[in-house]
Amino acid sequence: MHLYFGLSIALIAAIFVAVDANKRGMNAIGWAIGTFLLCIIFLPLYLIIRKPVIARPAVYPPPPGTYPPPPQQPGARLCPNCGKYHEGDARFCPFCGAPQP
Ligand SMILES: [Zn+2]
Repeated sequence: MHLYFGLSIALIAAIFVAVDANKRGMNAIGWAIGTFLLCIIFLPLYLIIRKPVIARPAVYPPPPGTYPPPPQQPGARLCPNCGKYHEGDARFCPFCGAPQP
C-alpha cells in the first residue's frame, strides 16, 4: 500500500511540475520524469530554479513615457496611439485603427 501511495504522490507532483514548467517555457517532460523518479530531490529543486511565468503581451497601450521598442523592420512607422510599429504608408494603424499622421 505504501508503494502505491508514494507513486500517486509522485505522479501528482510530476503532473503539477509538467503543467507549471510548460507555462514557463521550460522542459516539461524532463522535469516531470525527474520529479516522478526522484520526487524528493526534483520537486524542491524545481521550485527553486523555475523561471517566472511568461508574461502575456500587453493588451493596453503602454503608459506615456514608455520608451518605444526598436523598429521591427526598416520603413516601419510608430503608431502614436498604441505605440506599435506597422508598415510604412498605412493611413490607419492596423493594430488599433487610429489615423496616422
Ligand atoms: Zn495603433
